[in-house]
Amino acid sequence: MQSFILATGNPGKLEEMQTYFTGLDLELLLKPPELEIEETGETFVDNACLKASEVAKATGEWAIADDSGLAIDALGGAPGIYSARYGNSDRDRIERVLRELDGSPNRRAKFVCAIALASPSGEIVITTEGICPGEIIQAPRGTGGFGYDPIFYLPQHQLTFAELTPEMKHQVSHRGEAFKLFLPKFRALFFNQ
Ligand code: IMP
Repeated sequence: MQSFILATGNPGKLEEMQTYFTGLDLELLLKPPELEIEETGETFVDNACLKASEVAKATGEWAIADDSGLAIDALGGAPGIYSARYGNSDRDRIERVLRELDGSPNRRAKFVCAIALASPSGEIVITTEGICPGEIIQAPRGTGGFGYDPIFYLPQHQLTFAELTPEMKHQVSHRGEAFKLFLPKFRALFFNQ
């Protein structure tokens, strides 16, 4: 069975990723914890490529990485690639965004997710990017999901990401979209499908 190293140390991400690969005969493994990769890229795609390539080279295995975040129009695209580093906790990060947007009539935002696959030599073989447009709501709503989910509002559903079931979130999210684009290429490469 072909193994792939996921360029993350986060078991939650491994679990979520596993649902996208359901039905394929493969094994997903977490990267060795001592292997830290600095996200020095300027875009989500840069960072996904960097992580996949470094993990592949260090382990000698195929590696898959994703990089994601929230880009807010009125903040010039911030927090963007710095989404995970915009505060010390989800609550801090959400409070900071709401404070920075206080009084702004423009609440437009988008979640972005890039995925990269690197060969054991570190060469990038597949990259895809998924986008989910939405708005930043005035106050958090909902208890599901993680990160900025309680303030990310989908006008067409009249719900925040934190009010969606995990299945609904997979269908509409940036990560779901990036995987929809990734999987046909991945299947063609490894499973002749
Ligand atoms: P990374 O992709 O692991 O580098 O983390 C990106 C950061 O963006 C996370 O720590 C979250 O704060 C945020 N983020 C990415 N995707 C989502 C999402 O689906 N919901 C809420 N926050 C997200």
